[in-house]
Amino acid sequence: MSYVLSALIKRLDLVRDRIGRAAGRSGRGQDAVTLVAVAKTVPAETIVAALNLGIRDLGENRVQEAEEKIFRVRSAPGGGQARWHLIGHLQRNKAARAVGAFDRVHGVDGLELAAALSRHAVAASRVLPVMIEVNVMGVASQFGVAPDEIEPLVRAVSELPGLALDGLMTVGARPGRAEDSRPAFARLREMRDRVARASGVRLPELSMGMSGDFEVAIEEGSTMVRVGAAIFGGRTSRA
Ligand SMILES: *Cc1c(COP(=O)(O)O)cnc(C)c1O
Repeated sequence: MSYVLSALIKRLDLVRDRIGRAAGRSGRGQDAVTLVAVAKTVPAETIVAALNLGIRDLGENRVQEAEEKIFRVRSAPGGGQARWHLIGHLQRNKAARAVGAFDRVHGVDGLELAAALSRHAVAASRVLPVMIEVNVMGVASQFGVAPDEIEPLVRAVSELPGLALDGLMTVGARPGRAEDSRPAFARLREMRDRVARASGVRLPELSMGMSGDFEVAIEEGSTMVRVGAAIFGGRTSRA
């Protein structure tokens, strides 16, 4: 077995174990949390190896860089099982390509982008699951809508054909220790509860937590963690 593969197996086992234990601390089972393996900068062969190890959800943050890789992985044996998540900022002029390549978009941050995704999803006869990205703490370098914009955007996006809005997404403190992210994660869950109640839109998914803070995110109710470096190594971790 190659070094790359054995290292991948070890890291993946460890991440799954940590997810399971954090889910237990939040009173949930491991299946309550979807592991999205963030594969930006990871070559297609390594992604196929991860699929063979049971990974089903893959995250990419740039449409253009992801397209060719997604095509290559989809054409590999077993590659059709992957679900591709767009986790990064999306520009409206790339909405058509995002709908063509991805199975879910995490970072919807405005009605114009949502409307563009809706139009292209309808044209492709698809229903695209989406989440709204929230800049919980108002950090200047982060994307996402302000907390008081969530409810009107949730109401508007939930009316659009071709989209299935089912949750909220945020990025934790950066850079920082895991505990620095906890207030933002707890607040996103509270905002979700309030907006879901006020709007009547079900928002079961919370996309929060990365390599440096996914356990804290799960303790605060995350249902989707986006983990790159802790699985694939290589890039500098935020831990
Ligand atoms: C890169 C990225 C991740 C994964 O980060 P790691 O620290 O490698 O786990 C998660 N979410 C977003 C939005 C990212 O861009």
